[in-house]
Amino acid sequence: MCLSERIERIYETIKIAAQKVKRDPSEIKVLAVSKLQPLETIKEANQQFGIKDFGENYLQEALLKMEALQGENLSWHFIGRIQKKKARALAKSGFKLIHSIDDITVLQKISQVVEEEGLPLQSVLVQVNLSEEPTKAGVLPREMDSFLEKTRDLKGVQLEGLMTLPPPVEFSEQARPFFQQLKQLRDDLEKKWALRLPQLSMGTSQDFDVAIEEGATIVRLGQALLGPRVKKK
Ligand SMILES: *Cc1c(COP(=O)(O)O)cnc(C)c1O
Repeated sequence: MCLSERIERIYETIKIAAQKVKRDPSEIKVLAVSKLQPLETIKEANQQFGIKDFGENYLQEALLKMEALQGENLSWHFIGRIQKKKARALAKSGFKLIHSIDDITVLQKISQVVEEEGLPLQSVLVQVNLSEEPTKAGVLPREMDSFLEKTRDLKGVQLEGLMTLPPPVEFSEQARPFFQQLKQLRDDLEKKWALRLPQLSMGTSQDFDVAIEEGATIVRLGQALLGPRVKKK
């Protein structure tokens, strides 16, 4: 399958999923996950098909791509694990949205760097570990209150919502309970803390149809959109 066919399929799937729950398909943002994808693929997706938002997992790789594609008017998102010692570099890299915040000290650092350097407010999402697997990234649901409490005086960051990555599933339907939980958690936190968390970043190639039915505003699509990834060396 070529890029145009994959894109056509994805937008068709988005349309069907959105219509099923009476959502407007245009309110769902497609984030092209470009980790381990060559520059040519990113360029093709952008120039031929108008895809503007790309997500990367590894800071080093992201910075190289951002530099190489400077002036192309792309928006970069960070969706990978964040090493504490890379928080400063991350804050200064100009990501439109960081989806994978799960450590308050990292968020504090980013906020501090933004303020010190006079950078634009950094938009972030908090990654939630709904399956509570100990090796998995993400704040546990029961820790969200104390996490949010500590974000209240951070002036350099804008908290825009929640992100999750369910365990791998065989059928997209199996991921549904996780997406339902994330939305419920968001609704509860909004009420309790009287704040707005409009973005729900959930759904990947394997389950984005179900994520949309459950309220995703951003779906993160790697292989279904850009094709197989090159192996990491
Ligand atoms: C790699 C990755 C994706 C995309 O995965 P695909 O299965 O290729 O769609 C989405 N979200 C995160 C956090 C990822 O690391």
